[in-house]
Amino acid sequence: MHPLSIKDIRSSFINATRSEAAKLTPPGNFDSLDWDNLDFLGWRDEKMPLRGYLVVPTDQGPSGILLRAPESGARKNRAVLCELCRDVFSKEDVLLWVARRAGQSGRDGNTVGTLICADFICSANVRREPPASEIQPDPAAVVARQVGELRERTDRFHSRVLKR
Ligand SMILES: [Zn+2]
Repeated sequence: MHPLSIKDIRSSFINATRSEAAKLTPPGNFDSLDWDNLDFLGWRDEKMPLRGYLVVPTDQGPSGILLRAPESGARKNRAVLCELCRDVFSKEDVLLWVARRAGQSGRDGNTVGTLICADFICSANVRREPPASEIQPDPAAVVARQVGELRERTDRFHSRVLKR
């Protein structure tokens, strides 16, 4: 995705109040992000660990989604798959992240939930090449397909948050 500034990010949110966007803690590794290999920017708030952010590139520019992880009982082990990358090899935790819907619907209390890698490492997961095999002779093609699928699923989640 195109590199963003912290200011771009703060002004991109579709389901956060201005004060929520102002209070967010930028990702700790912001200055060293590998934007070329990110399909979205996702991170957990270091100071508010139950809060996460997903900034999705769209034709209209970056679109940010504020997410919350439920307080307890929400920590999923790898028995469940991240709905975005569907990575079956990763040992990282997956959390049920909940987004308030955009606009009036969200102000009325409507939310959308989905399982996403706890630390939003999906872009790295889908770029891990599988070993070449008879069934899968071209690892690069597999990666390209996985990247495409990750983007599609992320767009779909973004649309669900936007939908009135
Ligand atoms: Zn994932």
